[in-house]
Amino acid sequence: MKALALYIHIPFCRRKCGYCDFYSVCSENLIPEFCNAACRSLQYQSGTCAAKHKIRSIYFGGGTPNLLSAEQLSGILKTIRSSFILDNNIESTIEINPEFSHRSAALQELRDLGFNRLSIGIQSLKNRELRFLGRLHSSRTALRCLKHARMYFDNISTDLIYAIPGQSLADLKSNVDRLLQFSPEHISAYNLNCEEGTPLAGSVAAGKVRLAGEDTERAQFLFLHEYLLNKGYEHYEISNFAKSGFYSRHNSAYWDHQHYLGIGPSAYSMLYNIRYHYSADIKQYLEKPEIFSQAEPALESERIITGLRTSKGLDLKPLKTEKSAILMKYVEKHPEWLAVKDSRLYCTLEGWLMLDSILIDLI
Ligand code: SF4
Repeated sequence: MKALALYIHIPFCRRKCGYCDFYSVCSENLIPEFCNAACRSLQYQSGTCAAKHKIRSIYFGGGTPNLLSAEQLSGILKTIRSSFILDNNIESTIEINPEFSHRSAALQELRDLGFNRLSIGIQSLKNRELRFLGRLHSSRTALRCLKHARMYFDNISTDLIYAIPGQSLADLKSNVDRLLQFSPEHISAYNLNCEEGTPLAGSVAAGKVRLAGEDTERAQFLFLHEYLLNKGYEHYEISNFAKSGFYSRHNSAYWDHQHYLGIGPSAYSMLYNIRYHYSADIKQYLEKPEIFSQAEPALESERIITGLRTSKGLDLKPLKTEKSAILMKYVEKHPEWLAVKDSRLYCTLEGWLMLDSILIDLI
């Protein structure tokens, strides 16, 4: 049976963060209806996938999955278990925001539901930076969440944002050091991107906010790479670090171009080289949760984009001969950015820093 990664998009947030362009709405009154719709999607999609696939990872992301009650999460999990075959060694992740864990019992409930990996949206441990990002939690809340999480989970991932305007290298180091006191198994570190249509983009356009700039981004990326390597983490994807044996199995399915099924508005699926998605519209989803919006063939360029983000690189064997030839020519021209080993093309550290330009040249 082929492995399948299952993603459930929980499209609700209590308040939108100024930098975020993920699809979510602040209509918590729709949560019960959404849970029913998600179960209908799962039952319907199991008709096409369940016989051929075994689920190796489940990921509840968002949005803010912890806005669902334990009963609501349990209802969706029960539908998954009754509709699909699950691997015995499944990785089952839920994203939470730190303000959720004011009582440790809330985390115990998640563990008891069967989640064995927690992904916490820490982002920063400085109140000034958290306020800038528009987060609802404080540094104190985030530290309490980490403490409670450690009581019940032995696989914790934490998200950090760097290159926040006004953030110095010392600020970033202090965030990382405080985080490392809890020895998270996995750290995702993203530079603050200015995504079109977000309030942050509006503030930048109006001249109210000045972004950190390329030099700061570069210096902070290199700092994270060296510092976390010295602390025993592997830099296995451009924005992801993990202790040995703790790579995200779920996200690796995306990067390795394996089969994945996404449930919920705006969620994408990739099955047998065909991509499907639900439109980013909660109303439409609630009306027709069985129907994917579109089917498109997966593009070779997607394989290149995701492959070059990983430290193991892109497998050249499935690529068309002409495309491989173009890539090899580019490697000869830019040996400081790209290298080939055992039929895999991967970025050097300098290449990761130049990845956007490389992809513009290659795709
Ligand atoms: S960053 Fe997370 S909590 Fe904030 S708006 Fe986006 S999905 Fe919601």
